[in-house]
Amino acid sequence: MQFSALDYPFYGGDYSPEQWPREVWDEDVRLMREVGVNLVTVGIFAWAHLEPTEGRFEFGWLREVLDLMGEAGIGVDLATPTAAPPPWLTTRYPDALPVDERGARYTHGSRQHFCICSPSYRRFARRIVERVAAELGGHEALRMWHAHNEYACHVPYCYCDHHARSFRSWLERRYGSVQALNDAWGSAFWSQQYSDFAEVMPPRMTPTFANPSQLLDYKRFTSEAFLEEFLEEKEVLKAARPDIPLTTNFMGLHKPLDYFAWARELDVVSTDNYPDPADPHSAALSAMHYDLVRSLNKSVPWMVMEQTSFRVNWRDRNVPKSPGQMRALSYQALARGASGVLFFQWRASRAGAEKFHSALLPHSGQASPVWTEVSQLGRELAQPEPWTTAEVVADVALVFSYANWWAVESSTSPAHDLKMQDQLTWMYLPLYLRCVTLDFASPAEPLERYQALLVPSLYLVTEDEAANIRSYVEQGGTAVISFWSGIVDEHDRVYLGPYGGPLRSLFGCDILDVAPLAPADVVEVEWEDGTKTSATFWLDLAAEPQPQRGKVLARAASGPWAGTPVVVQSNHGKGSVLYIGTRLDHDGMQRVYDLVTALRPAQSDLDAGLSDNVERVVRRSPDRDYEFVINHTDSDRKVLLAAPGYDVLGERPANGTLPLGRRGVAIVRHG
Ligand SMILES: [Zn+2]
Repeated sequence: MQFSALDYPFYGGDYSPEQWPREVWDEDVRLMREVGVNLVTVGIFAWAHLEPTEGRFEFGWLREVLDLMGEAGIGVDLATPTAAPPPWLTTRYPDALPVDERGARYTHGSRQHFCICSPSYRRFARRIVERVAAELGGHEALRMWHAHNEYACHVPYCYCDHHARSFRSWLERRYGSVQALNDAWGSAFWSQQYSDFAEVMPPRMTPTFANPSQLLDYKRFTSEAFLEEFLEEKEVLKAARPDIPLTTNFMGLHKPLDYFAWARELDVVSTDNYPDPADPHSAALSAMHYDLVRSLNKSVPWMVMEQTSFRVNWRDRNVPKSPGQMRALSYQALARGASGVLFFQWRASRAGAEKFHSALLPHSGQASPVWTEVSQLGRELAQPEPWTTAEVVADVALVFSYANWWAVESSTSPAHDLKMQDQLTWMYLPLYLRCVTLDFASPAEPLERYQALLVPSLYLVTEDEAANIRSYVEQGGTAVISFWSGIVDEHDRVYLGPYGGPLRSLFGCDILDVAPLAPADVVEVEWEDGTKTSATFWLDLAAEPQPQRGKVLARAASGPWAGTPVVVQSNHGKGSVLYIGTRLDHDGMQRVYDLVTALRPAQSDLDAGLSDNVERVVRRSPDRDYEFVINHTDSDRKVLLAAPGYDVLGERPANGTLPLGRRGVAIVRHG
């Protein structure tokens, strides 16, 4: 799907005219034009307005909305309303509602109250999607198809009888025989041996730990079940208008869905990002979110479908963005490759669960400082400058897989509080602070393009994935691999022998056992040169390596396991590996990263005074670079430019020292 006609940044948001009287619509259009809105998402929760009773369809109002947008030159991202079935549907067909693990059925009155395997839900969902496509697929304002909303957001796991039947069919297709299922699930343990697929249940409430292989397969099955419904919507929408790009909005680090598999089905990857401004690492976590989303399908564009202008309403305490922070975080997305930034939502609702979720047009209207910032950003994005088609420069990849995420957080692990997001952040944050831009990569995808790989706790790894990583290293790559990698196969069965399985040969040492540390424990780490840093959380019990196999760079220096190697360097073919057997502190991670050329900060960045919450990312086109510099602090900063250029937003030459006010942004064009 070509996206080249869209080579300017999208700006806009969710628009819900069904919540407002008709006369408000004209004001909406006028104000949208005033701030440069060029794309609105409509229809996303409009099922009850489009089909108020079973089989009675009312599309006139939505057609009028699209007419208004078309006349105003505003594109429409037309959504299917399938994330919120209307009350008539769930009242008349209660099996369309999901069931929790205790057997309790959800009720309507919120959203996302559907069972993805329910034939009733699927029948009516398909019908309303067909009507959307038939009624409005030919409209001139249509710019993008938007299937559903935030798949698997609130109720990812349903345990109803429809799910039980679908899960058994899925298992039969996957394993062929019940013997193969028993073998994969290790069901000899605790007398779980099945004699027939009909005996297999979804992982409903059990007295204690459920079979972890069963849980893992239920996660795989669930991701695929949602994907099947999405593909049905896609088929209908594409049949109506194959030329219109299609998306569904992801949610960044969202665990229930294998977004790598999903992103293959999209023309545009889009995401909803709500970093918590109260989190000191808010900007870094937001950057990591965007790096993941950009990486899910590296051959299609991506964009921000939702963010907030000021504050959300669904945290316990909803700290707002600082003045300028909305703009700065919008530019962060654009710096990291986004083709646009949209918001939830255009006009703040008067009633309903999200009435205190900020919008582009706040309750207080145009008098709000939010509106001023919204207007400024809109004006800036309307300036023609082709950086939206330039590529993000990322030479390093963080290896990540959903199957691993599902398995590694199992409640049968030695440390139940080992969280993938913590492991990702631990490896990502020091590099973010060095302005080293990362991609994410699946362990199954080609990796040669990267100068270095980071592998945080790749607990579940298949033989093929491990061979891919080994081959990457042997051909000259450098990998930094953390503890708790290479532990189990695709069924969550332990690879026997010293830990590491098909990755073991890369470690440079044998991991004979593992020792999670008590929450308050801090282990001293001593490096070859006598420098001391510290570590927490986990300690691999590594055997002393033979000198020809690996070189110990650092050891535990306190506690019962003092002397244990914790950082081991080894060579493999033309490449090398740094194995980290504990959760090194920030200084320790800096020392590891200093050993790898691609992970070192650029001297120019050090000189520039970056790295202290001033972010620098480069987008490259064939004839020029765009250097984005973003101040994520509430104080004024100065950045020294490595090379002279032109400040696109300031519309002036830039060389030497670049002043950045609080939350300030510069895009410096080179060439
Ligand atoms: Zn169900």
